[in-house]
Amino acid sequence: MLRLLETGGWYYEELRIVSPGPDRGQPVKRLGYLWAAPTTVACLMLFLLPMWVLSQVRPERWRDGAWEWLVVPGSGFERRWARESGWCGVTLGCCILFASDADALRLALHERRHVVQNLILGPLFMPLYALLWLAYGYERHPLERDARSAEDGV
Ligand SMILES: [Zn+2]
Repeated sequence: MLRLLETGGWYYEELRIVSPGPDRGQPVKRLGYLWAAPTTVACLMLFLLPMWVLSQVRPERWRDGAWEWLVVPGSGFERRWARESGWCGVTLGCCILFASDADALRLALHERRHVVQNLILGPLFMPLYALLWLAYGYERHPLERDARSAEDGV
């Protein structure tokens, strides 16, 4: 079950898969993070950590079920990708890379829905996302449509 959670003035989706009972959701949630770990570790090793070493991105904080990273302002990555392309953020397993610290509510909700998709699909998320992207493109992509529906809670 997903619900909105107020945190520091913002509302985020709480990554609670089973809610009733004191600890009923915790084992399922832990299993989701374990299931998503291959994607998270691969994204960390192949993208986030090398980009951190190159001072292009930096870890920001763990918040509401996701490890948030930021593109470093003024970096080449920010100039070439974040600013000019209009790209705002991407979910990489259980990590979310935001293009800026503007931290728009709709974007936070959208990316956290992708984290939930990662917890459910685990290592199948990336190949499934790619296949669906080839079939439907970005606008009609079922996982993107699902993530956009999460924005409607705003
Ligand atoms: Zn998306």
